[in-house]
Amino acid sequence: MPIFAIMIKNIISLVIRKVPRPYLQLVSHHIAKGLSLFYQGNDVECPVCQKHFRKFLPYGRKARENALCPNCLALERHRLMYLFLRRKTNFFTAPLRVLHVAPEICFIGRFEKQQNLEYTTADIESPLAKVKMDIHAIPFPENSFDVILCNHVMEHVADDGLAMRELYRVLRPGGWGIIQIPLFHPLPETTYEDASITSPAAREKAFGQNDHVRLYGKDYADRLRAAGFMVEENCYTKELPVEEVERYALPTDEIIFYVKKL
Ligand SMILES: [Zn+2]
Repeated sequence: MPIFAIMIKNIISLVIRKVPRPYLQLVSHHIAKGLSLFYQGNDVECPVCQKHFRKFLPYGRKARENALCPNCLALERHRLMYLFLRRKTNFFTAPLRVLHVAPEICFIGRFEKQQNLEYTTADIESPLAKVKMDIHAIPFPENSFDVILCNHVMEHVADDGLAMRELYRVLRPGGWGIIQIPLFHPLPETTYEDASITSPAAREKAFGQNDHVRLYGKDYADRLRAAGFMVEENCYTKELPVEEVERYALPTDEIIFYVKKL
């Protein structure tokens, strides 16, 4: 691998490990913009920001090649979710009240501009979110939202069952949502959690990351169902032509957990 590519990988890996999580997206944004100059080309395209590049930036603690959009910071899973929202839902067309928990920087500006959306961002600590809230006690009345987006939150919270029931409570009957979590393969049969494991190093070892409090297994969808949701597990990449999967650099094993309140 050329020295330059190794250098970029090392910079990104260092930033991910050292910058506190709430600020990671803000800091990364500036770094990625600078690096984008070296990635000019038309081999891959980001469906979120519609910019094209030679390839995407590497990303991750063990850096994955061709992962991060240098312009908007969308990762593989964000690009897939964006296509799913565009093509499989009414997200960009219907008048919708949306609650976006732990909002991803690649989506915020775009969703705020959508005239059809009444768009609320919320988080317990992210400087990107407008409403400060603890997901264990969501400060909105029941049936307040038509859509809930809540990605990569459940693996961090003390009581995911309560958090899921809170999301269910504020979603209106007929409403839908996407509630993603990281899946570390091979998946355990059942979710592993142990509240006595508290140090960052021990959490990294037990749950795959130093701020995770559980490792989800094959029962994740059932945990959402226990909170009241109807759940569709959607391997959306498999529905797409290989040219699109490559052009957009989409994940091959991502399951979109699409939930509904009946
Ligand atoms: Zn992008």
